[in-house]
Amino acid sequence: MTQSVPLKLFNSLTRQLEVFEPVHPGEARVYSCGPTVYNYPHIGNMRAYVFADVLGRTLAWKGYKLTHVINITDVGHLTDDADAGEDKMEKMAAEKAQSIWDIAEHYKQAYWGDVAALNIRQPAEWTIATDYVPQMIEFAKSIAEKHCYELDSGLYFDVGSVADYGRLARATTDEGEGRIETVEGKRHPADFAIWRKTPSGEKRQMEWDSPWGRGAPGWHLECSVMSGRVLGFPFDIHTGGIDHREIHHPNEIAQNQAYCCTNGLDVPANSGARIWMHNNFLVERSGKMSKSSGEFLRLQLLIDKGYHPLAYRMMCLQAHYRSELEFSWEGLGAALTRLKRLVMAIVQLKARHAEAGEDAAISLDRIAGNEGWTFERVRSEVGPKLIPLLEKFDAAIADDLNTPIALTVLEEAVGMKKVDAGLKLLTLQAMDAVLGLNLFGLNRADLRIRPKYVEIDESEIDAAMERRKEARAAKDFASSDAIRDELAVKGVEVMDGDPLGWDWKL
Ligand code: AMP
Ligand code: ZN
Repeated sequence: MTQSVPLKLFNSLTRQLEVFEPVHPGEARVYSCGPTVYNYPHIGNMRAYVFADVLGRTLAWKGYKLTHVINITDVGHLTDDADAGEDKMEKMAAEKAQSIWDIAEHYKQAYWGDVAALNIRQPAEWTIATDYVPQMIEFAKSIAEKHCYELDSGLYFDVGSVADYGRLARATTDEGEGRIETVEGKRHPADFAIWRKTPSGEKRQMEWDSPWGRGAPGWHLECSVMSGRVLGFPFDIHTGGIDHREIHHPNEIAQNQAYCCTNGLDVPANSGARIWMHNNFLVERSGKMSKSSGEFLRLQLLIDKGYHPLAYRMMCLQAHYRSELEFSWEGLGAALTRLKRLVMAIVQLKARHAEAGEDAAISLDRIAGNEGWTFERVRSEVGPKLIPLLEKFDAAIADDLNTPIALTVLEEAVGMKKVDAGLKLLTLQAMDAVLGLNLFGLNRADLRIRPKYVEIDESEIDAAMERRKEARAAKDFASSDAIRDELAVKGVEVMDGDPLGWDWKL
């Protein structure tokens, strides 16, 4: 009898690996802090959503009914995570002389484009911050008396009013002094605005009436409100990038404690979520991750340089989500090659499977109904030879989402000899339902490096390659060399005897 390994996840709140036990039996409710749509996301931001996607896919693999919510921040996020600086959205709108609503719409669509390109599954709901302002005001009203105080600039949360403030960041409230800019009148440097009043004489593009005057909600308030409203407190897992562990999430937790009338964080669920998970950063040495640098690292830049976006997903999966990952073009190229190998192997397996015809153990149509492939279901269908690998894969992914190991197990499955092609395809499809590399949807032409500025007609190249093949078959090496040289002039390199079976590249 084979066993599914319990899912263990690293909880940033306890700094421990914990066995996942759902609040509601059979269900998993996950909230991920989404992007602030004032600019294009950089590929580091997208690492956070690839991670959240792998988490969601893993929960589904383990048989939980997943409800995933990601928010879109279109108000409230200041240029500084503390209460200093301008609203990022207002600032960008002023720079571009456009309405905030147009800015938000444009960058939200761009973000959704990247989500699709990276094969990140659609969450159950995208919550848009500006849709929840009345609920934010209600939330703030309910905690104002016991936990907040008013200053000229807004309504502030008193971090001393809840137990264990800052535990997630492992900072004592005193350590906060140096890192947070002080607003005059704050009782404690770590106190934060939950409502920001519009200064008198000024007009913001986005402002609402509230009991504390016209203004806008604080950034931390929106995530408390949207997560609690949609998923109910306490929910299972809250995710974000590691930067959020320091200010944004401790502040969310403090608000949740106030709102739920719960106390200390020795009971993690008192924070509003049982488990808080954080992905580490994608870093790049020359500073191209910064959105203020001219050509910053957007997914579109990778695509323009000719890389398929899923090569970037592969790059993310090759590192554990809690490790820092350094971006390099060489690394991206290597990830692309690894992806190509897998895709080519699957193309060959499909051909072998087709040859089996009626004798095949399982039909391709059946395999392709991929979304519902839980560990238990695949295990019951895959046959004894492949079960050990399936278990090995399960153990890796259940070990705090160890995708680097899971990938090597998938490759082991590819290389396995003397197994039915259909059952092998089923195993690979099920594993890919967790990793999300779209191995069955990609083909060789998708993965050819093709920079945007190179204009080529592939059918012309293929025709030339065909003529060259005929010339070589006829031992007419002069013609075959001439064709190769003509192609070289167009920037096309002929690849004889390539181990991956590629005939040409740019
Ligand atoms: P933002 O739009 O700034 O709120 O960021 C969106 C998400 O990306 C958040 O979860 C951040 O924590 C995360 N993030 C920001 N920079 C990076 C990075 N370089 N690597 C990985 N995640 C990041
Ligand atoms: Zn958030």
